[in-house]
Amino acid sequence: MSSKAYLGNPSKTSEILRKFGISAQKRYGQNFLVDSNILEKIVNAAGITGEDTVLEIGPGIGTLTQHIALAAKKVICVEIDRNMIPVLEYTLSEFDNVTVINQDILKTDIVKILEENNAKSAKVVANLPYYITTPIIMELLEKDLPIESITVMIQKEVAERMQVKAGSKDYGALSLAVAFYSNAEVKMTVSPNCFIPRPNVDSAVIRLDKLEKPAVDVKNRDLMFKIIKGAFEQRRKTLTNALSHSSAYKTDKKNVENALLEMGKNINIRGEELSLEEFALLSDILGQ
Ligand code: SAM
Repeated sequence: MSSKAYLGNPSKTSEILRKFGISAQKRYGQNFLVDSNILEKIVNAAGITGEDTVLEIGPGIGTLTQHIALAAKKVICVEIDRNMIPVLEYTLSEFDNVTVINQDILKTDIVKILEENNAKSAKVVANLPYYITTPIIMELLEKDLPIESITVMIQKEVAERMQVKAGSKDYGALSLAVAFYSNAEVKMTVSPNCFIPRPNVDSAVIRLDKLEKPAVDVKNRDLMFKIIKGAFEQRRKTLTNALSHSSAYKTDKKNVENALLEMGKNINIRGEELSLEEFALLSDILGQ
């Protein structure tokens, strides 16, 4: 790569931003990576090979994209901010394996763009905009997409929340969805100093390997996730009270009590005490 195109240090990023007369947009969660060591580590953590198609969400000025493009067969980037498009044309001009799409990832038909690029499946790699981390990850997990793995930089606190087990105060709908669909591993933590501008929080890179089939059998997946949502809407309440007042899933208090008794559980249990397997069982009983 020529020095013109090489990104991954603070002075080059500032130079590019100045050249194009732009600055980081807070509303799009723009915190640009400026540490080449971390960039390499993300590519390694994602396990990208020359056979892989990578879907990158939010390429920004193309810093991580360059590093991915050197390792992958093909990179498809989806960037919402149209001011980044001329920048990407410039910084990625030496790569013939990158396609940039100017769209909101939450409105993108991922299956269609993979098909258009002759890719059977993809690995997702991203330094995610922190304001929509959870919706993006839920979308990638819940929709039946041909995605092998998701390696993303997110807030350290959210990465920790994704991995917790029943009983923890951070246990909730996100950790249950992650456990249902994937194997999760935090690969590294990253200091705010590795970004321009510096975020207010520590970050972490987490890799989610999609399971071939969900971790537990459940008759009605949608019902189970409605019950989970209802259980954590008011997490201080007992499960029976939470579900009888929930907007996500409503049922008679007696039904939940009977289901819990059938499961051999105390009727005063809270949602945060139930494992994924137990939510699946509860859902099967309530759905009968
Ligand atoms: N990948 C670059 C890097 O590591 O330096 C930029 C990462 S920055 C944290 C997040 C990027 O996601 C920004 O470029 C932002 O404009 C983009 N973005 C924000 N919301 C988006 C959305 N809904 N769809 C696609 N891209 C989005």
